Amino acid sequence: VKKTFDLEKLENIIDQFSQERDWNQFHSAKNLSMALSVEASELLEIFQWMTEAESNAVILNEEKFTHVQEEVADILVYLIRLSSRLNINLEEAVLSKMKKNALKYPLGKN
Ligand SMILES: [Mg+2]
Repeated sequence: VKKTFDLEKLENIIDQFSQERDWNQFHSAKNLSMALSVEASELLEIFQWMTEAESNAVILNEEKFTHVQEEVADILVYLIRLSSRLNINLEEAVLSKMKKNALKYPLGKN
């Protein structure tokens, strides 16, 4: 699986999609945060009541796996949209937070 993607390209597609539908008026930071949480819950709903083994085997169920991929995409769409609205550089934010995490959870102390 290809592991790199063009974040700027995705952001442009998502921003244009919203602009064409005049949805910018609804896309406050608060609303986008809530939408992101709803999509994360939709992902969780797929796995609700499965055993851990069943959840890991979801890749074998074509219909469910497609659903998982769609919800993962929904989450990323809202995350990209929120970051766009707040001028957050996603790559910098992740690298910075991972540095903090490394300090918080030093090796050999877990
Ligand atoms: Mg969804």
